[in-house]
Amino acid sequence: MTHAIRIHETGGPEKMVWEEIPLPAPKPGEALVRHKAVGLNFIDVYFRTGLYKAPSLPAIIGMEGAGVVEAVGDGVTDIAPGDRVAYATAPIGAYAEARCIKADRLVKLPGPLSFEQGAAMMLQGMTAAFLVKKCYPVRAGQTVMVHAAAGGVGLIMCQWLKHLGATVIGVVSTEEKAALARAHGAAHVLLTSDDIPARVKEITGGAMLPVVFDSVGRDTFNISLDCLAPFGMMVSYGNASGPVAIPDLGILAAKGSLYVTRPTLATYTAKREDLVSHANDLFEVVSSDAVQIRVNQTFPLRNAADAHRALEARQTTGSTVLLP
Ligand code: NDP
Repeated sequence: MTHAIRIHETGGPEKMVWEEIPLPAPKPGEALVRHKAVGLNFIDVYFRTGLYKAPSLPAIIGMEGAGVVEAVGDGVTDIAPGDRVAYATAPIGAYAEARCIKADRLVKLPGPLSFEQGAAMMLQGMTAAFLVKKCYPVRAGQTVMVHAAAGGVGLIMCQWLKHLGATVIGVVSTEEKAALARAHGAAHVLLTSDDIPARVKEITGGAMLPVVFDSVGRDTFNISLDCLAPFGMMVSYGNASGPVAIPDLGILAAKGSLYVTRPTLATYTAKREDLVSHANDLFEVVSSDAVQIRVNQTFPLRNAADAHRALEARQTTGSTVLLP
């Protein structure tokens, strides 16, 4: 048996309940991982509310963890009991003391990294990796925008983009968050209350931006389009304020032959080789200190509902880890 946070129905944080559940032995191709730390991500909120559908209920939400392998099923050769591992692209099920998971979704956690760092960085860090290196390969000298710049993905993006030689315009909701984004590489920080396109026009001398990384969704989609130069790329990768609907593609023509993409980490890491490549890119920038992982909040796993309340109330900065 093990303990896990489960939802029996979708809804508010109060739907998350700490329960004792059976812990099966690993099937062929699986590993049993004892979590030392579990990552908190906004996608967990989407599964809890029902914006994203769990395959069945009751469900254990959560997509990211770090821990120690306790056992492996038949056919698993790359991972062995005792290995320190982390993951972020498995099916939901991370809000548990232990779980079985497909072994080909695991990566070994490099020695110097703690379990807390592993659980904090895999999902948000590999997201930053695929966004800036594959989805829109950012070049030195470009000026780019990052929404929610003091958040989990946001702080990693600011540092990584600066490391690549880009000039980052971060957008945040408070002065405290602005200071944090600045301290992590954002050259300019705008508040959500600013006239953002007008400020971007000033900063870029009218040129506007080749790309905007927008995780806020509904509230900022049109603002982001207005910040783009002709042929610019709108990378809409999240829905913190609600999902985006584009009623008329003509809006992209009217605003300058724009591109829009709605990427997900799942697609960019579906192949094992891509998962390993993004994880290695992440380990490299973290090991070299180009990107620091800020674990600014921890909660006991059994109190994950409080962590959700803080995340949804925009009270967290950087990454948050749940401790079993
Ligand atoms: P964050 O730490 O960034 O938290 C969300 C932040 O979004 C808040 O702190 C807040 O920053 C901002 N925000 C704006 N509007 C709202 C709102 N109405 N409610 C709550 N927050 C709001 O979370 P994560 O780093 O975990 O995730 C960031 C985003 O990236 C999420 O949208 C997530 O879905 C997305 N994502 C997408 C992936 C993909 O594969 N496509 C993978 C990973 C993450 P502020 O107060 O400064 O506005």
